[in-house]
Amino acid sequence: MSLYADIIVDITAKNLDKTFQYIVPVQMESEIKEGMQVDIPFGSSNKVINGYVISLKDTPDFDVSRLKNIIRINHEKTYVYSELIMLAAWMKDNYGSSMAAALKTVLPVKRHMEVKKDRYLFLNISEKEALDLLSQYENKHYTARARLLKYIISNSGTKEKTALKEASVTKSNVNDLLKREVIKESSKPDYRNPVKNQENSKYSIILSDEQKNIADDIINDEENKKAYLIHGITGSGKTEIYMEIIADGIKNGKQSILLIPEIGLTYQNVKRFYERFGNKVTVINSRLSAGEKSDQFLRAEKGEVDLVIGPRSALFTPFSNLGYIIIDEEHDGAYKSEITPRYHAVNTAIQRALMCNAKVVLGSATPSLESYNNALKGEYKLYKLNKRMNNGKLPTVHIVDMREEFNRGNRSIISEKLKALMKDRLNKHQQIMLFINRRGYESFVSCRSCGEVIKCPHCDVALSEHNGKKMVCHYCGYETKSITKCPTCGSKYIGGFKAGTQKIEKLVANDFPEAKIMRMDADTTKRKGSHERIVESFSKGEADILIGTQMIVKGHDFKNVTLVGILAADLSLYSPDFRGNERTFSLITQAVGRAGRSSDDGEAVIQTYSPDNYSIVNAASCNYEGFYDEEIAFRKLMDYPPFTHMLMIIINSRNEMDALLTGDLIKGTITSLIGKDALVLGPASPLVGKIKDVYKKVIYVRTIKYDTLKDIRKGIDDFLAKNRMPKDVGIVYDFDPLTY
Ligand code: ADP
Ligand code: ZN
Ligand code: ZN
Repeated sequence: MSLYADIIVDITAKNLDKTFQYIVPVQMESEIKEGMQVDIPFGSSNKVINGYVISLKDTPDFDVSRLKNIIRINHEKTYVYSELIMLAAWMKDNYGSSMAAALKTVLPVKRHMEVKKDRYLFLNISEKEALDLLSQYENKHYTARARLLKYIISNSGTKEKTALKEASVTKSNVNDLLKREVIKESSKPDYRNPVKNQENSKYSIILSDEQKNIADDIINDEENKKAYLIHGITGSGKTEIYMEIIADGIKNGKQSILLIPEIGLTYQNVKRFYERFGNKVTVINSRLSAGEKSDQFLRAEKGEVDLVIGPRSALFTPFSNLGYIIIDEEHDGAYKSEITPRYHAVNTAIQRALMCNAKVVLGSATPSLESYNNALKGEYKLYKLNKRMNNGKLPTVHIVDMREEFNRGNRSIISEKLKALMKDRLNKHQQIMLFINRRGYESFVSCRSCGEVIKCPHCDVALSEHNGKKMVCHYCGYETKSITKCPTCGSKYIGGFKAGTQKIEKLVANDFPEAKIMRMDADTTKRKGSHERIVESFSKGEADILIGTQMIVKGHDFKNVTLVGILAADLSLYSPDFRGNERTFSLITQAVGRAGRSSDDGEAVIQTYSPDNYSIVNAASCNYEGFYDEEIAFRKLMDYPPFTHMLMIIINSRNEMDALLTGDLIKGTITSLIGKDALVLGPASPLVGKIKDVYKKVIYVRTIKYDTLKDIRKGIDDFLAKNRMPKDVGIVYDFDPLTY
């Protein structure tokens, strides 16, 4: 039997979906594996180039006489890129994208970047060793070398140019010290490490027995679970467990990736890691340029760092001996990509870990239904942390029924209970956070008489009112003047219905003229660094009240906050998808968790029009299991995930009829493929049926088995390839979608 290999030749070329088939010579058959790098003769000149084996087959797709042989396997090549390329192949198959899109995701920046202009010089040995060496140089009258070393000892991280000038030495002196590995160079000053020279600082926290047991169990476990899920309330000590695991990895020559939702990637959160791991850590976030990101990846590849902290995309850090992938706040929606391939970081992490024998650790106070279900089924190992560290107590939670409030005549957005508590905290000079589930001084403009909602003519979404002067579309930016009369019925009771953060700020300022108020939402955090500035300023006590959207509830540890108000708990409840309850439970739990992280009188007020809803009741009592039981029963009854898998197929076109027609054809294809084994809905117009004049139609498919969805996707692709479709139509696949 012979073997044939499909090979990708140039991972930076445009046409990445094209593979070339080669014969695997008999002597290589036993050792060749997918992902390996090989040398092959290419083109008519048979120039030897290298490529990566994407798949192996027993039968050739072409006439064998026209196929060439693989020359050799490049065993000595680092396999990390092979690993990432195979991960891309898995993503292509699992999330229904092209290989090109998958490779772009996994290898996000061109690796062969332009050579840097400046280089920066760092001390590469300890300060003590350097001082010893310096006196040797001085004794031997290596004066230039000594001047340079002396300069770098006190200016490690300096620009080469500056060093040349200040120490009055030549480039050859620099190269000499580089060659001796006394100093090292980098293309960037090390500004990403805000805590310098901490490497040797003693780390003072000693894990509790509970924490230690969990860390040890994960480190030593040999059951090969897909993942380890730490379910622990906020402040229960999960992060310290992560650090213990990472430290163990480092001790054993293994690297770690820690994923944090982008919004939680703040200096405050990352500082603890710098303090413990010093220069071994690097952080990737969206504020870094592509070049800076690529630098960090290169540092990881070269082994200069052992820990990369970052959002979803940090999952593809090219570590060659990856030990752990830790995903904090694993339930967060930010772990699902919104661009093709629409991968989920948790599942993709599990796949990467499988390929390199790493372990996946998930942590959350409110695990996703899917993850918790997997843990209960035994696919993940489950650990629980039920207490806050340092005897921190959970806040006392009050649920306020806003319907009663309204009937009593309080038309304000702030209930009497919350108002009274706010007064109390302001008197005590403690801080308050007010959370609202949306952004800006903006709201839907609707008519109270007839219910008409004013929408964008291009996007089919409600316009938002800004400052009572104009109405704006948040998708395409369309603007129009505010109106005073309903265009449908002529009523003058038309306007914004619900308050945003800016309006709340005004109301609160009115009620508490003495209080200093800060606001954090998409509008106040547009500029680089403004998010951090607000966080820092508020934690320094520069304001009494922080008003904000989702941003304020995630991950910040404000020590002096003893009161949290959740102003409109229902807003996420009625989003038109089955995850509304889960989202609400998670948001409220997190918001409540912000109160009293280090003191005893933490209180939270949940204002709601549905005080009996189980998401709200269980969030108030911090009862995850209670919530889970109710929610899982609902999912089971309705055949929703995790009992089924879903595929969302989005059909885009500037021509609505073309989109609909293609949708109908695709639906027909699905039905002929699988008969009654799947539930197929649509094609329908989604919530936002038109964006920038492109129409969207959506088909939902639900099946028990994920693989059935993959087959459906292949079937549709085959159908589309064989039949002529309207030119302008685009298809997007979203497996197990989180948004609608
Ligand atoms: P989580 O990640 O679950 O929110 P953290 O690990 O951040 O919890 O811990 C909450 C707080 O308790 C932090 O300030 C942390 O430094 C502290 N802490 C955690 N574990 C210990 C410990 N074993 N001893 C002392 N303090 C601890
Ligand atoms: Zn009207
Ligand atoms: Zn629009």
